[in-house]
Amino acid sequence: MIVRKSGPGWDGVPIDLYKNEPGTWQDVSRHILFSTGNSAFETRCFELAPGGYSSHEKHEHEHCVVVLSGCGKVLLDDQWHLIGPEDVVIVEPWQPHQFAATEGESLRILCIVNRDRDRPVPIENSLAPRPSNH
Ligand code: MN
Repeated sequence: MIVRKSGPGWDGVPIDLYKNEPGTWQDVSRHILFSTGNSAFETRCFELAPGGYSSHEKHEHEHCVVVLSGCGKVLLDDQWHLIGPEDVVIVEPWQPHQFAATEGESLRILCIVNRDRDRPVPIENSLAPRPSNH
């Protein structure tokens, strides 16, 4: 089976448009590319619009994130790192993290997680105000 890329998403894959909550996350859409009852993982693609960012959070489950396209940065613990295509970001259990796109370009990331996972715990954004661009 092949899930074909189509326009802004993939054939048959709904696009979840996250409602903006400035200060926590904004301008993020999610595509669930793979999630079945047969495997213990899920593969999702997140698209952060220019200037968009994900929530600052932590949880027990790990993330394996591969940058598909665009540039941005990731906050791991209390340090921002620039990331670009084909970089792999491993978010360890309980590691505080947040992703952000640069102002001029969308950031598209593939994120692989356990299907059964704990709920993220939001982190006060004092460490991570809306990221500025480098
Ligand atoms: Mn997370």
